[in-house]
This record gives sequence, C-alpha cells and structure tokens, in this order.
Amino acid sequence: MNAQTTTFPTACLIGGEWVTKDKTFPVFDPATGNKLADVPDLDATDARRAIDAAHAAFPAWAAQPAKERSKVLKRWLALITAETEALAQLMTAEQGKPLAEARSEVAYGGTFIEWFAEEGKRAYGHTIPTTNTATRYITIKQPVGVCAAITPWNFPIAMITRKVSSALAAGCTIVVKPSEETPLCALALAKLAVDAGVPPGVLNIITTNDAASVGEALTSDSRVRKLTFTGSTDVGKILYRQCAGTIKKLTLELGGNAPMIIFDDADLKEAVEGTMASKFRNAGQTCVCANRILVQSGIYDEFVAALKVAVEKLTVGPGRQPDATVGPLINADGIEKVKSLIADATSKGAKIVTGGTPAPQGPLFFTPTIITGVEPAMAIAKDEIFGPVASIIRFETEADAIRIANDTPYGLASYLFSQNLARAWRVAEALETGLVGMNSGLFSNEVGPFGGVKQSGLGREGAQEGLEEYLETKFLCLGGMNS
Ligand code: ADP
Repeated sequence: MNAQTTTFPTACLIGGEWVTKDKTFPVFDPATGNKLADVPDLDATDARRAIDAAHAAFPAWAAQPAKERSKVLKRWLALITAETEALAQLMTAEQGKPLAEARSEVAYGGTFIEWFAEEGKRAYGHTIPTTNTATRYITIKQPVGVCAAITPWNFPIAMITRKVSSALAAGCTIVVKPSEETPLCALALAKLAVDAGVPPGVLNIITTNDAASVGEALTSDSRVRKLTFTGSTDVGKILYRQCAGTIKKLTLELGGNAPMIIFDDADLKEAVEGTMASKFRNAGQTCVCANRILVQSGIYDEFVAALKVAVEKLTVGPGRQPDATVGPLINADGIEKVKSLIADATSKGAKIVTGGTPAPQGPLFFTPTIITGVEPAMAIAKDEIFGPVASIIRFETEADAIRIANDTPYGLASYLFSQNLARAWRVAEALETGLVGMNSGLFSNEVGPFGGVKQSGLGREGAQEGLEEYLETKFLCLGGMNS
C-alpha cells in the first residue's frame, strides 16, 4: 500500500471492535491496476452483528443532549480535516480522481459534519393551539432508530459523511456498507470516528464483496428503521422492494440523466465553464454530471467550438500526477459502457468532434470527448454515460428544450444557461428535477437540499430537510387540564 495511507485500517468496525476475517477481497488502484489492500469480505451474519451493536448503542446515544452529540461530531471533523492530505491520497489511490478533486471532496465531506453538528441542536417540535379547554398539544422530534447506509464509489468520503453526520446528529446509530470499489476511505473514516470518541456501536462500517446478501440482511431486519442509499436506480428499486416487508423509512439518491440547456442568450464563457465543471468532474462519474447538453441553434456552432478548445486543454493522467484533470474510470464495465454508447451513437449519425477513443495512459483511461448530432432517442441520451463524454443535442425553441429535457424517467439535476431572467425562472420551474443550476454548473453543498424526483429517488440530503429524514414527529396530547 502507498506509504501515505498505511496508518489507516483494513479491518471493519463493529461495536467498537476492529473485525478481520480470513475471507477477504482485494482493492485495486484503477490508474495502475495494482492491488492496494485486502479487506474483510463480511457476510449476512456479520451484518446482523453490526445491527446488534447499533441496536445496543441506540438508547444511550439517543438520550444524549444534541449538544453532546455535536461535540463528538466536531471532534470527528477536526480529525478528518487534520488528515486531509492522507485521506485525499487514499481516495485518489482507490477511486482514481485527481488529487485536487480528492482534497476538495474531503473538505466538502466535512461541511456536512459541520452543518449537522449544528443543525442537530435545532430539531424543534411545535406547540399546537388546542381544540378544547381540557387538552394541550405539542410535538417532539425523536431519532428514528438504527439506520443502514449503502454508499457508492464515486464520492467515497462525502457520501458517507453526509449520511452518517445527519443520522448521528439526530440521535440515530448506523451501519454503513461502503462500495466494494472504495472500502478503504470508509475504514479510514471509521478509525477517525473511534479516535474522536464516537461510542462503540454508534457507527459500524462493514465491507463485503457480496452486497446482495448484506443488503438483504440490512433491509430485512426489523430493528433497522431506515435505509439510506446512494447508487443506481436498478439497485434502488431492489432495496425499495426489500424494505417494504418492514416498512422502513427510505432515502434513495439514484441515477440521473441531467439535461444542461444552453440558450442562444447564454453568456458563452459562463456556459462553457459551467459545462466543463459539471461534465468532467470525476471523469464524468457523478450522478449530477450533464448527461445531455441541449444547445439552441443560434449559439450551437460557437458553443461547440469554444467547448472543444476547453476540452482539449484537459490532461488525462493518474490522479496523483499533479497536472492531471481527468483520471481513470472506476472499472472495465465503466469503459465498456462509454465505448458502446459512443459506437451506438456514431452508427446512428452522431459525430465525434474530439476524443472518442480510449486513452493511452492505461486500460481504464478514456480521452475527453465531444459528440454532436445526438438525437434524444439514442442510447447515449437515455442512459447515464458516467464517463468524460459531452453529448450534444441541437434544439430550436424553449418549448422543445423543456420537452426534451423532461423526456426521461430520471429527475435529479438539470442546468440552464440564459441571461434572460424571466426565461431562466420559467424554465427552472418547468424542469422535472430536484435540483436546477441556473448559470452554474456546480451546486452541491451542505446548505441546499440534495435529491431527486421521478426515478431519481426519495428524500433529501443535507440542509434542514436532511436532518428531518432521521427524525420522527411524535404528537403529545395532555388531557384533564380542567380538572
Ligand atoms: P454503481 O453502478 O454506481 O456501482 P450500484 O447501485 O451498483 O451503483 O452500487 C451502489 C452501492 O450499492 C454499492 O455499495 C454496491 O455494493 C451496492 N449494491 C449493489 N447491489 C446491491 C444489492 N443487490 N443489494 C444491496 N446493495 C447493493
């Protein structure tokens, strides 16, 4: 393993104990194919032990004043911040993103801890005016109980801190199953949580190469009262079904097919910068990456030419290379998907403006690509590309743009670029997504509610709404006031 990462564990955390197992699975560096470490391949029985631990820890954690829980979260944040460089190196090693992006993700992941450490203190109930003189009413907020989190590989730290900090701030305990592609960052976070004084059982992190069995154990156990999942819509549907048996609360952050609409009246420089930020972050592997770039005919040629200049300035390379801006894709399936979407589109008449081929840096690298003449019916406009490919569709009118943008079962992010305020507002209202970036290609932060509509998910993370997801409202009615 890389020297900078040796201080972090390769064991799982259950009930405050470090758990190893003879059965392990390897973690690879996608830039080189080298093995970084072996981690425990836990099973359903181990998952139930983690639930036992979270269940046993729940009453005492829930009973702590929010202010005390906040102090623990802030200590965790301080340790994460102090280890920013080591965590970023670890993330780049197992996930592939450029170091600068990895450092930003550590900071971004930390903002959720900071936010929820404070927001947990504001889990207010209400007093409710009475309906008769003999009774009084209030509501109180209580933690939902034991939670389970299943997280993806594209943000190996932030997707965990966003879920864990909101759960812990609310007074819940949690079992986290990270992606099998990026378990090392999760285990590093577990170590820092232990060092910060998170009590045994409050946070449990279990790694497995058998996500289906562990997922089944987490979703079928009636002691788990909530599941929070970030990943593909297909897996989200399986988990939604599995949670029906015990009527769990659910937060699902699923796939997207983000439209980015560039109107004739856009500021060209702003539109190109926004497209680059949204499209090429993490080599195009985020669920809010612009998946369909809709460009109005009056600005089309100018926009494509300016985007080409910007795309050709990107530097493909291993994330640890200081000037790299586009790292490898996560695995061979990712590369195959990109290749097949491009092949399908070009066979139906789309044109490659730049890129379009694997890159020489290694088997998982792909050259940043622009493809024009894409039609809404092509697979590249229907599926999440999850690679560094800007797919461009021409449109004529505002009404066309809205119709094309909404013609998808997904509804996570959308973007529009226009200097006409009334148009921007009107189109933002018409877009069927949970998030709209207006003249902005980046909008994820701790204060804004993040989440999708349609088949992109349920619930919101971050913001005030993110805390609510981990709270139940209890209605208290006091009678006998006239006696
Ligand atoms: P991606 O395609 O981005 O890897 P997935 O939805 O496959 O997205 O993976 C997201 C998370 O869901 C990962 O932690 C993965 O291990 C987990 N996962 C995949 N399949 C299942 C399943 N059947 N049950 C529970 N978790 C699963």
